[in-house]
Amino acid sequence: MKNEMKLLVHTCCAPCLVYISHYLKENGIDYSSLFYNPNIHPYKEYMKRFEHLKKFMQDENTELFHLPSFMQVKWEKQSDNCDFCYKDRLETTVKFAKEHGFTHFTSSLLISPYQDHEKIKDIAKALANEYEVEFFYYDFRPNYREGQNMAREKGIYRQKYCGCIHSYRTSDFKDKITWD
Ligand code: SF4
Repeated sequence: MKNEMKLLVHTCCAPCLVYISHYLKENGIDYSSLFYNPNIHPYKEYMKRFEHLKKFMQDENTELFHLPSFMQVKWEKQSDNCDFCYKDRLETTVKFAKEHGFTHFTSSLLISPYQDHEKIKDIAKALANEYEVEFFYYDFRPNYREGQNMAREKGIYRQKYCGCIHSYRTSDFKDKITWD
């Protein structure tokens, strides 16, 4: 089964991918990454996350796709907006996977204890049925801290808010955020 799997990992950011990459490689699963995150505000933050992911993927010698798209998440009511944000990113991922011959897709969002894990899982399962691409599910959350520590050791930028303007404005660490 593993050998037949061609896996596309939607990647929200490098620090969330570090443990997942480690897990996949330990289990003999090759993957490619897709950076598609039009939620991230502002542009400097977007580029900072993308540049750190690019560097990590080069170090891992693993394929990275990039679909540039900006400012699609404006936020009116956070819970509704997160639905849109999850669905948009996952649907773009599953479509990309289908168009490029991937058999499976998943998302680095599945490692974060700060995301609505069940909602992400439900949306991904529905998309898997709709587009006939398998959803690779694993609950990575118990390894979130380990992954963040691995990212810190590698000098990877670890952002202080989820991505959209609302999450920036409400971040407890807003005063510490700079893009220099
Ligand atoms: S809080 Fe995060 S998941 Fe929710 S809309 Fe903002 S960027 Fe997307």
